[in-house]
Amino acid sequence: MNFTFWVTDNCNLSCRYCYVDRLSDRSDSMTVETAEAAIKYTVSHFEKYKNANDSLMIGFHGGEPLLRFDLIRYIVAQYEKIAQAKGFHITYTLTTNGTLIDPDVTTFLNQHKVAVTISIDGTPETHDLQRPFKNGKNSHELVIKNVIAMLDHDPYLRIRMTLTPDTIDKLHEDIMYLLDRGCKVIVPALDYYDPDWTENNMNVMEGQLKKVIQQTRDREDLLIAMLNEDFRPKDKCTVGINTLHISPAGDLYPCVLAVGDRSFLIGDIYQGIDQANRDLIINMSDKENDICLGCRLYGSCEGVRCKIVNKIYTGDYCKPCGTQCAVENIKWAIKKSALAASVLHT
Ligand code: SF4
Ligand code: SF4
Repeated sequence: MNFTFWVTDNCNLSCRYCYVDRLSDRSDSMTVETAEAAIKYTVSHFEKYKNANDSLMIGFHGGEPLLRFDLIRYIVAQYEKIAQAKGFHITYTLTTNGTLIDPDVTTFLNQHKVAVTISIDGTPETHDLQRPFKNGKNSHELVIKNVIAMLDHDPYLRIRMTLTPDTIDKLHEDIMYLLDRGCKVIVPALDYYDPDWTENNMNVMEGQLKKVIQQTRDREDLLIAMLNEDFRPKDKCTVGINTLHISPAGDLYPCVLAVGDRSFLIGDIYQGIDQANRDLIINMSDKENDICLGCRLYGSCEGVRCKIVNKIYTGDYCKPCGTQCAVENIKWAIKKSALAASVLHT
């Protein structure tokens, strides 16, 4: 079961595509009292719903969560005591912009085997265009230095890249830049909010990804998300039971994209889950997308499984956003061409 603590909505960067300013429900930083109540809630939720062999995964997100390193340290210390007392297996994740990783932070992350994701968009040119500090200064130099240092401890450090129409023509160069510096696990993700995605951008993206495939065909140690789709049928959505996000104020949201949007609020750490709201979301998730029926990708497509994403981007739970649909088809085309190329090489 995954519980993610949004320890702060604040950040030291001012990314062009930042989602935090869009949140209707901003609540600054989590207090120690809220964290304590949240820990108590997660333990009771876990004990109520867990299956045999379930483990507890505690995530830290924001804003920039390392602005509250003090609170993260406190929360982990509490969970360590709980793990000892109750025999729980607990793992930790952290999603960070990579600007605040100092030796103290590194020691802590290693000590607690925290699985870290760092956001970096590629070369200095791409990254600095999109992810400046709040004061306008460039952040790339610092972030890549910290990425390289973290790779020493975790060769499978997860890199998150945000793709925008402005930088899509550099995607191949950006991915190769990160691979050249030792990154092995890269998760590119589009900024679906950007209104400037066009069919031409999509064609450019497909061409750029195919160039990456050509150059990495022999690298079995790499995991580049858009190139490794398995197209297996997706599991049923279990948000609100197996996944919960806790806002700085202690409100409960079903998944990462929903946090701060009160139309997706499904409870709080004091009253627990609001079953009616949670059921509404789960019931939506079971509905068919009429406009997608007959599509060859229906079973594996995120636009079918994740109704919250649809609602956010199109206003309709059962209508996927056009850009996401295009991306699903590009991933399919890439998979087919990669398979064809591997047949030719055998
Ligand atoms: S690092 Fe994340 S929270 Fe901070 S400005 Fe960028 S997108 Fe927003
Ligand atoms: S969103 Fe597009 S790719 Fe996905 S099922 Fe619907 S039509 Fe198919």
